[in-house]
Amino acid sequence: MSTLTSRTKEQYWIDLAVELSARFALSAAETDRKAELPKDNLRLLFERGLDTAILQEEKGGAGISYATFGRIVFEIARGCPSTACVWLMNTSAAESLITLSNPEKSDYYLHQWKQGKRFANALSEPSSGNLFLNPVQEATPLGDGDWSLDGAKRFVSGSEWADFFLINVSIDGAPAFFGVERDETVEIHEIWDALGMRGTRSQLIGFNETRLRADNRFGQVASTRQNLIALGLPWLSLGIAQSAYDALIAQAQGKKLSDGKPLSHVQWIQYETAEIHVRLKAAKLLAEHLLDLADAGSEQTIVVSMEAKILANQIGKDAADLGLRVGGGLAFTRALPFERHLRDAQAGGLMAYSSELCKLFVGKNELNVREQG
Ligand SMILES: Cc1cc2nc3c(=O)[nH]c(=O)nc-3n(C[C@H](O)[C@H](O)[C@H](O)COP(=O)(O)OP(=O)(O)OC[C@H]3O[C@@H](n4cnc5c(N)ncnc54)[C@H](O)[C@@H]3O)c2cc1C
Repeated sequence: MSTLTSRTKEQYWIDLAVELSARFALSAAETDRKAELPKDNLRLLFERGLDTAILQEEKGGAGISYATFGRIVFEIARGCPSTACVWLMNTSAAESLITLSNPEKSDYYLHQWKQGKRFANALSEPSSGNLFLNPVQEATPLGDGDWSLDGAKRFVSGSEWADFFLINVSIDGAPAFFGVERDETVEIHEIWDALGMRGTRSQLIGFNETRLRADNRFGQVASTRQNLIALGLPWLSLGIAQSAYDALIAQAQGKKLSDGKPLSHVQWIQYETAEIHVRLKAAKLLAEHLLDLADAGSEQTIVVSMEAKILANQIGKDAADLGLRVGGGLAFTRALPFERHLRDAQAGGLMAYSSELCKLFVGKNELNVREQG
């Protein structure tokens, strides 16, 4: 395939995400108010082929680049961040199960995903979601080669609608990853009365002696394997930031003061708009660099994903905060979208790895601090 054709193909998926995002934007406020899963949006993404686009062509996907994948998360998040979050979790869990399972299970998950079955990441433990790669919940050996999990996972986006879960547990003190098909041992506890990202319905899940099958356990993971969540999370925050920025520009241009001049003529708004503009631009450039590294198969993506997340998480909050101030009193109500942007933007810095943990990691790396803790 020529470069031009390949570029056209990638652009097709970005254009599609832009088109669907504009539709999602129309119902984003209602999704937030009702705290309902945006099922129609998620169905549409599946029906239009976006779910499986990241898969290689020989597996029936479109073989899109990570650069395009990140851009898709960004575009969906501009319209409806909850949709983007659940979509990212569904896509990353399914892609991991298809890529890292044994060939027979991989075919099974692939078939299920193409049928529209839904996947979720059940990784965060109640004790500490940030340490999800080092789970403390120990699986019990059943004596027949399988294990059993009697425990809980927290904040599982889209869990009520999920057919399959990617979970992790401790086996003899070491982390182990499994695919789990939903059955009667999997219990959803409704805890999601959340500040923002309310449409993700990220519930607590009880695993009540759930069987973890040996043939559902992941094999070794190559160090160059790219993690879609790590690549996508900065773009989730950047989508919220862009949405808030676009709305604040429109508000500043549209609202007139008593002297008849639009708000955009106010000097402090010009200064602060410039500040948000350049920081958003810089955050996007860093997040693009992350995706370019991922497309090149670089191992540096681990540290760069944290750098990109730090900037993206903060600019999401700051763009929404400026929107709130430019919007004034009305922005304190649902008449303007900034209060929703502000609430949604808080999630990025809390989601693992939190902004604080990212800073610790990046700081230690820069200072060459090697000790643990
Ligand atoms: C909208 C949303 C959707 C989510 N979706 C999913 C999902 O689909 N699947 C999933 O598995 N999880 C999901 N999560 C969970 C998320 O990824 C985090 O795991 C979770 O938010 C961390 O919360 P916690 O209460 O466990 O925090 P903790 O890990 O307990 O952290 C609490 C505080 O302590 C700090 N901290 C923690 N550890 C350290 C340390 N070692 N050193 C210094 N500071 C530390 C953190 O920075 C934070 O400030 C979601 C969360 C949100 C908000």
